Amino acid sequence: MQQLQYDTEHPQKSAAAKASAGFHPGKVAWSESAHWMIDQLHTDGKRCPHCGVEIVDEARLRRWYQVERIKCSSTECGRFYTSTTNTELSGSTLDPRELYLLKCLIEWGVSPTTIITIIPVNKETVGRWVKRFQAMEQLSA
Ligand SMILES: [Zn+2]
Repeated sequence: MQQLQYDTEHPQKSAAAKASAGFHPGKVAWSESAHWMIDQLHTDGKRCPHCGVEIVDEARLRRWYQVERIKCSSTECGRFYTSTTNTELSGSTLDPRELYLLKCLIEWGVSPTTIITIIPVNKETVGRWVKRFQAMEQLSA
């Protein structure tokens, strides 16, 4: 995925905000955060979202966890997709690692005012994801 830029020049007021000023999703390990989040989006397995054929080869699995474009292995389907196609992350500017961090920050009770200094989203987006995470929890319960 493309390298993301983070603005760490926000004027900070509280000591807690200062402490978090240098913290951003780029500091979180992709293998542990994005992989976990992608798995959360696909509790029914790693499949083509168009025809449902399971991904079994290593090359496609690697692309799956890097959110890179994959061509379906079924000759009848052959369509392209990524691990976020037709998921809660479709059309979102957030990548799985940012979403993982957002989920953690929300669960830790970090205020939206602080969250938006760490993750490049606005307060409305934070509020939308609070509701989406609740809906996802209910689905998996
Ligand atoms: Zn397919």
